[in-house]
Amino acid sequence: MAVLVTGGAGYIGSHTAVALHDAGRQVVVLDDLSNSSPAAVDALRSLTRPDLPFVEADAADVDSVGRTLADHRVDEVVHFAAFKSVSGSISDPEGYHRNNVGCTAGVVAAMRAHGVSRLVFSSSCTVYGEPNHVPVTEASPIGATNPYGATKIACEELLAAEADVGGLDVLLLRYFNPVGSHPSGDLGEDPQGVPDNLVPYLMQVAVGRQERLAVFGGDYDTPDGSAIRDYLHVMDLAEGHVAALNALADGDGPTGCTAVNLGTGTGYSVLDVVAAASRVIGQPVPHEVVGRRAGDIERIWADPALAIDLLGWRATRSLDEMLVDHWRWQQRHPNGYEA
Ligand code: UDP
Repeated sequence: MAVLVTGGAGYIGSHTAVALHDAGRQVVVLDDLSNSSPAAVDALRSLTRPDLPFVEADAADVDSVGRTLADHRVDEVVHFAAFKSVSGSISDPEGYHRNNVGCTAGVVAAMRAHGVSRLVFSSSCTVYGEPNHVPVTEASPIGATNPYGATKIACEELLAAEADVGGLDVLLLRYFNPVGSHPSGDLGEDPQGVPDNLVPYLMQVAVGRQERLAVFGGDYDTPDGSAIRDYLHVMDLAEGHVAALNALADGDGPTGCTAVNLGTGTGYSVLDVVAAASRVIGQPVPHEVVGRRAGDIERIWADPALAIDLLGWRATRSLDEMLVDHWRWQQRHPNGYEA
């Protein structure tokens, strides 16, 4: 039997594919390469097996996904395939909705048709919007602050409704802020165009691809005035998916649809991250505090208790380890995979 990883050429998907392979599973990757490169698949194969099955297809294409499930005798799915840029979603809300909800609907339809019942879904703490209380638990109120977040909520609702009518057992993994890379330095985050996210941007400054980091907002009600997030190592996150699949496969495991936070439980400010990165890199990262970015929230971090209870998973890697590993990847591949 095998596990299908949709979006497995992307940042979190590729790291999860490696973790699943290392845990002894047969991994099949499906990706349309719309926001990832064939070189990521090569890197994935060199870290797993040279003949790791890769299907180039759109996850919204029910026939392609269904054929993949049948051809590889798939009995569990991790669904990542989605667009993920907040700014992209603000300029193209319809495209984001069609792609993200359409891919989830396509995967579910194919799973139904082929009697595959176990699904782990790539969700995000963005579903909590601007929380009125931290840390956030899975029972905290839901509400999007941008169209990207709205697509994640719509997918979660679709999966909950599918689980209600029977036939699907789903874990909705709500990730906090993944950073870092595989310790080899040969698998990592390779944003196309100018990075939206803090650590990829900061690392591009450090290798000279960007001039200076703009720190968005110095007037938040936080100790240093910059915004606070819960950063977690992408390998911890990848291992969280292995734990989630193991829990679903366990006869006493969760049934129906359950949301679980994957975070460390610790918040760091943007300026904390800049200081830690400067230490790790060995030179100051040029930065400048500017105005707030539209749609950003002030602070969020996870209550990770449910993941510990239900999945037996907790994040173990420190902020410094995240930055050391991300820096290794950036130094080995200053221009990303294809350079
Ligand atoms: N951020 C920043 N400069 C950048 C990118 C991000 O100051 O170039 C800040 C952003 O305002 C937020 C934090 O870093 O407070 C994390 O942003 P990111 O886009 O990585 O993740 P988000 O939490 O927004 O999903």
